[in-house]
Amino acid sequence: TEACLNAIEGADALGAFVHNTPDLAREQAKAADARLAKGDAPNMCGIPLGIKDLFCTKGVPSQAASGILNGFKPEYESTVSQNLFDAGSVMLGKLNMDEFAMGSSNETSVYGNAVNPWRRGNEETALTPGGSSGGSASAVAADLCLGATGTDTGGSIRQPAAFVGITGIKPTYGRCSRWGIVAFASSLDQAGPMTKTVRDAAIMLETMCSHDPKDSTSTDLPVPDFEAMLTGDIKGKTIGIPKEYRMDGMPDEIETLWAQGKDMLADAGAKIVDISLPHTKYALPAYYVIAPAEASSNLARYDGVRYGHRAQMAQGDGITEMYEKTRAEGFGAEVKRRVMIGTYVLSAGFYDAYYNRARRVRALIKRDFEEVFDQGVDAILTPATPSAAFELGRETSDPVEMYLNDVFTVTVNLAGLPGIAVPTGLDKQGLPLGLQLIGRPWEEGDLLNTAYALE
Ligand code: GLN
Repeated sequence: TEACLNAIEGADALGAFVHNTPDLAREQAKAADARLAKGDAPNMCGIPLGIKDLFCTKGVPSQAASGILNGFKPEYESTVSQNLFDAGSVMLGKLNMDEFAMGSSNETSVYGNAVNPWRRGNEETALTPGGSSGGSASAVAADLCLGATGTDTGGSIRQPAAFVGITGIKPTYGRCSRWGIVAFASSLDQAGPMTKTVRDAAIMLETMCSHDPKDSTSTDLPVPDFEAMLTGDIKGKTIGIPKEYRMDGMPDEIETLWAQGKDMLADAGAKIVDISLPHTKYALPAYYVIAPAEASSNLARYDGVRYGHRAQMAQGDGITEMYEKTRAEGFGAEVKRRVMIGTYVLSAGFYDAYYNRARRVRALIKRDFEEVFDQGVDAILTPATPSAAFELGRETSDPVEMYLNDVFTVTVNLAGLPGIAVPTGLDKQGLPLGLQLIGRPWEEGDLLNTAYALE
């Protein structure tokens, strides 16, 4: 804990931590020492972590990197962070992210962007750590903490993990409780760990998962000992390679990486088969209807009355002016864009044309996966991202360009499946690249074990 606190002090330039909690960390570390001395401490006991700012942490600022939650200190703890603290883990502070987890570069944060600790060759150009869990990615990659919580609605754990060369898993929808995590798109949001290795991810995920009556979508299936499932033995497993993920204009290096991944799994005894997920091309448009629709509804609660920021009122202003001014001041541009898209696609005149159609497409995407799993496929191997980390500022002017970052990851959220990004190589300029494995629902243990064979 002390080593991490020191490292954080020297790493301001990364912009990874947005709020440090050294006093709490030392208190928790002391309690962990006492438990360890007694000899009955769980695996996560004493492990110093960073917590994404999307998680409500009791008495500690939790702003989802938004101006509208300025000064908000929750009275309660999210179930996931509580599970980690119950196991003796230590919170070093809160981590940077895109505002309300909307973004792929950590540039929509009210705190300013986080920075990728990696550089392209000898260049000085600062690169994005990805998003929305950019602070989590940067902090783990730079050794400011041993692990971090992330959340993933369309790729926000897996894309940043790939951009900084670490492991990140989004479990099956319902594995981790969403209670106390600021909602973005409730039918897609899941928490997961971001760590240096697959083994760390297995240990941390197990601690994060629990059945939670406070989240009606949380599963009551037992949580397996994921670490014990890391045997490295994947003999006889069938790995599917979906042809629709071979995109036009994909850099050669991503193609090569994907081929190397196939070879590694084949060498470990897996059977590699070509598969088809025919509705893949509709995933991104469907996601960018469904996610904003749910966001526009979830964000209606930020009205200047209940939480955080309230605008200065002028003489004669009524409640409507108060709402308008508060929301105009409190939300950033990307969040406003999503709220507008969301209210538009949910409006009476366009509901069927957009929202309902996107829901039907979502069902087809889910069925594509079910069919290949029924044919005996155990896991699916794809690239995690269409490129390596890009320069900060490069894609901010074009939202659609930014949305393309999620092309390989959103299908997994739409289908509710577990997906993991594993660092598997470097590009010509020395930047990390990752591959993604997609697993059957509730089979995170098998998925982690397959990822272990790729590591
Ligand atoms: N980049 C995607 C978006 O902006 C995904 C974000 C996420 O997974 N939270 O919506």
